[in-house]
Parts: sequence; C-alpha cells; structure tokens
Amino acid sequence: MSEKRFKRDTRLGHLGRDPARFDGAVNPPVYHASTVIAPDTATFKASGRRRFEKGETVYGRFGTPTHQMLEDALTELEGGADTVALGNGLQAISIALLTVVKAGDHVLLADSVYAPTRKFASQMLARLGVEVDYYDPLVDGPALDALIRDTTSAVVLESPGSSSFEIQDVPALAETAKARGVATIMDNTWATPLFFRPIEHGVDLSVQAATKYVVGHADAMLGAVTANHAWAHRLRETVYTIGGFAGPDDVYLGLRGLRTMGVRLERHQATAMTLATWLQERPEVAEVRYPALPEHPQHHLWRRDFDGASGLFSFVLAQPYSQDAVAAMLDHFDLFGLGASWGGFESLAIPSDPYRTATAWDAPGPVVRLHAGLEDPDDLIADLAAGFDRLTRAAG
Ligand SMILES: *Cc1c(COP(=O)(O)O)cnc(C)c1O
Repeated sequence: MSEKRFKRDTRLGHLGRDPARFDGAVNPPVYHASTVIAPDTATFKASGRRRFEKGETVYGRFGTPTHQMLEDALTELEGGADTVALGNGLQAISIALLTVVKAGDHVLLADSVYAPTRKFASQMLARLGVEVDYYDPLVDGPALDALIRDTTSAVVLESPGSSSFEIQDVPALAETAKARGVATIMDNTWATPLFFRPIEHGVDLSVQAATKYVVGHADAMLGAVTANHAWAHRLRETVYTIGGFAGPDDVYLGLRGLRTMGVRLERHQATAMTLATWLQERPEVAEVRYPALPEHPQHHLWRRDFDGASGLFSFVLAQPYSQDAVAAMLDHFDLFGLGASWGGFESLAIPSDPYRTATAWDAPGPVVRLHAGLEDPDDLIADLAAGFDRLTRAAG
C-alpha cells in the first residue's frame, strides 16, 4: 500500500501486509529459511548472478518475504527508494557508513552522535584507513562547507543529539554536503519516520535503530537503513557482501510494533511533555533538554522540520551533585528502570553525561536521561519527586 492519500495511522495499519499473497492471513508469515530450493539449474545459476536485486528469495542470508514486508513499510514511511532490515541499530549505522566510504576518505560526524557510532568510526573506520573528524552539531551550512575536504565522502548527522538533544539544521547541512558531492547519513532513531523524514530533507541514507520505537516492547534487536535512489543499489550490494540481515522472528516483532507505533508515540510525546514541564519547575534542575519545549535553544528548527517529539530527553542538575547523590536518586525508583535501550513501553532513567571532542560540554551539574514510557504520568511524577528527595538528602 503505497498511497500517500491515507493519513499516517491508517498507513501504519496497512503497510507491509499482503493478505492476498499469504493465504488471507492478516499478518505476513515468519519465513525461517536458510536453504531455498531452485526449480532448475538455469534458475539456480541465474539467481547467483542477480544477487543485488531485492524481492527475490534465493538464500536466507539475502532476506525472505518477511524481511521484504518490513522493508517495504519502512521505505514508504521514510519516503526512500529501498530499505534493508538488519540485526540492530549499530549495524545499520556501520552498514550505512561502509556503503559510502573507502580507504583514504575523510568523514565528518556530529560531536553529539550515539557513543557506539563514535567508537565504530574512531576505531574501525580509522583502522581501515578512513580519516575521522567530529564537528559541532550546531554548525550552519557555510561552517560545514569549510570543514569539507576534497577527500570527504560522508557527513553523519543525528538530530537531536544523543544525551544533549541539539537539533541540527538538517536541510541546510544536507544541501551543503550535496553541493560538494558528499553523502549524508542521518540517525533518525529519536524521531522515527513518523516525526521526521530525513530523505525528504535532502539526506541520502536514513538509519533507524528499530530496536527502539519500531519494536517498541524492549524485546528484540533490529536496525534499518533506508536509502534514496542514488544510494539504494549500493546499500543492498553492501549488505549482500557483508551479510547481516535480521532474524525473521525479530523482523516480525518489528512489523507488529509498527501497527501501534503511531498511538504509542503520541502517548510517549504527551507524557514526556508533562514530565519535562514539571521538571522545569524543580529547583534541583538547571535545564530540561527536550526539543518540544519552547525554551529549547533550537526549538524553532524542531518546529520547522519535525512533526512531533518522542519520549526521550535529558535534564541537567543545577549543582555539581556527587555520583553518590545521583545514584541515591536513580537506584531506588519504583518505576524508572536503569536501562539504556529506550523506546519500549517502560520508563527509564540513567546518568548520561555527554562525551565531546569537537565542542565543550559545560553544565552546572550531572545530566540525567529519561525515557517517558506508557505508564500513568501522575505515577511517574510521584516517582521522580521521591527521587529528588533522595538526591537532596544524599547531598546533605
Ligand atoms: C540505541 C541506538 C542505536 C543502536 O541501536 P541498537 O539496536 O541498540 O544497536 C543507534 N542510534 C541511536 C540514536 C540509539 O539510541
């Protein structure tokens, strides 16, 4: 179902399904396949030559109809040309980078990227002969232009940034990169394609840690890369060469998660806004970093480009509280769990001080990152309030 005339939630219920193809079943079946039997030698030989085409089931490593259903749905939602469904979000980032770069190239990553992305670039790409630099996520087009070299092949964006939640001027940066012949890759996990579509804003490859909101229930690892027309073939070629499609059960959980992603995100957004507004009034809090708040420094960019805000944000404490004091708060919540992988139905709270090399991180106190889950917001506020009491007592 590719018709854009239907609204978002309608499309979420119908994309990536084909009852006529699957004996009338509402949901596509889970294909467990490694070996795929060819009808004759000619087909067998031909399939070996056609490996970079999507939509053929020739060997389990190249995906099955289960994968195709999720890939088609995400391609539609992202407004791209093709999607590959991978084992996890980090793999989606590494595959996107390996689609673009070669030895001798130079890549630019936002200083605020997801920490394991930084590690992949600084350790693995550097080892493969790629020069890696970090840039201030708040650069404008001309400032990015000045950082681009003749050897630059990729600019990596993440908006909002991990832990610090800066919103980047994605259209301006994508246009600058394009004018210099440089590919752009954006980690779109926070917004999901429901709230932001990178390719519509000029980005070449959009990455989704589908582990988070697509799966939505903290029980499966999944990643996806969606490419525009310019990069679609090269992306599929890269995955087929490296290997790495997700397992079919996890793909199925991604498809199931998609059906409710619209209603879940609305609730995550509403609760995050309630908690963020409440936190702004707390004396222990210096700043709440949630792009949907009017006080957020790049709120105007978020309003201009995004259709919503998800449930993840951070707040900066107003004093240099000790690690022990912060632990007294975070270790004893009834509801907020101390877990990293957000996007599920449950609320989370972790210590999350940004690591920066291209810019300075200056804050009056430690940073706490929250994920607003689907619980009742009143209960979450009571849990946070008790946490602040513990913080104050521990700080003496
Ligand atoms: C979690 C996350 C990833 C990695 O996803 P995994 O599925 O855990 O590998 C990538 N980017 C962002 C922004 C994330 O939050």
